[in-house]
Amino acid sequence: MSRSSVSMQSAFVDFVREIFGDRQRIPLHAPLFGELEEQSVVEAIRSSYVSSVGAMVGEFEQEIVRYTGAKFAIATNTGTAALHVGLSAVGVEEDDEVITQSLTFVATCNAIRYCGAYPVFVDIDSDSLSLSPVRLEEFLHDNSEIRDDGCCWNVRTDRRIRACVPMHNLGHPARTAQIRNICSKFNVHVVEDAAESLGSREGDRHTGRVGVLGVLSFNGNKIITTGGGGAVITDNESVAESVRHLTTTAKKEHPWLFLHDRVGFNYRMPNLNAALGCAQIKRLEQHLLKKRELAAAYADWFAEHAEPFFAERPTTRANYWLNAILLPDRVSRDDFLGYTNDCGIMTRPMWTPMHTLPMFADAESGHLDNTESIESRLVCIPSSVPEL
Ligand SMILES: *Cc1c(COP(=O)(O)O)cnc(C)c1O
Repeated sequence: MSRSSVSMQSAFVDFVREIFGDRQRIPLHAPLFGELEEQSVVEAIRSSYVSSVGAMVGEFEQEIVRYTGAKFAIATNTGTAALHVGLSAVGVEEDDEVITQSLTFVATCNAIRYCGAYPVFVDIDSDSLSLSPVRLEEFLHDNSEIRDDGCCWNVRTDRRIRACVPMHNLGHPARTAQIRNICSKFNVHVVEDAAESLGSREGDRHTGRVGVLGVLSFNGNKIITTGGGGAVITDNESVAESVRHLTTTAKKEHPWLFLHDRVGFNYRMPNLNAALGCAQIKRLEQHLLKKRELAAAYADWFAEHAEPFFAERPTTRANYWLNAILLPDRVSRDDFLGYTNDCGIMTRPMWTPMHTLPMFADAESGHLDNTESIESRLVCIPSSVPEL
């Protein structure tokens, strides 16, 4: 390792401690709570509604609607559950295929498998970290045809390609408008995994709003949290109804009878979690501002130290959920990870690409050059909202 990289690493550790204070361990992303959250959760407990019935779930959903501009929001107990029912609601079934990126969190592919469908991997763009429209169009052009049923079929596997799931990686918006235009030519539904991108925009549009539906997550490590939780956002009323129905054990409305018309799920967000969410969402604008300041500070610091900081694309506004840098190669990445973690600064590599995990190793895919290059070089650095 060169002397300059050692001194860069130790200067980086000092810089992170300047921002986040001299605690022993600086986490990658810690939630921020105060009196607002305590009061809201206590209120839920005192109301005795702590489970999946309660006024705060509806309130939280209205806040999500207001914030994202979507017509409907359905809150769920995890983001993974939201992905599962979202995919089901657009008709993903056993033996279908769903195109996504290999560079994603495992939940994306797990949800596809919960439907009995198979993920198919298409490469990312290096400047968005998300599904490449050019590679997507190539893949569909070379491997698929529209059959008499009006559906897109993979001619190599003889499976129906039902949906495409771009994921807004680390909060950087994917090229969803282009992806949607390609998918509509091939009759493939777009479901956006916007779990990491609450507050991120492509042009004026909140992420998750270009596809038929988008999925959010409010897990403890996300930009705001409900403890565990997620949501489906959509402008499509029948999709919204179908998602709501599936998340509530497919129970039909009736004054007293227990009538269920299909195998549904118990995926609704509990009121206790929604109470936390109602308080957290009040902090979202402030979080976004502070995270932009943090990203700008990192960008300046890394410019001075001649290492590329991963910045938002023009015409997009990232929430900078996790800040990231791109090192020259895997060796320097591993050096940086080793040094910083030894110093108590939590840094992490990118997601391990899905096509290298045993469950998805057999998946169909195009070439994944950008996926592999980015995976070997990217490092996520501490990104909590600084307490000022
Ligand atoms: C966090 C996350 C999810 C959902 O995770 P949950 O913990 O189930 O809320 C889904 N996809 C991606 C890409 C994520 O980062």
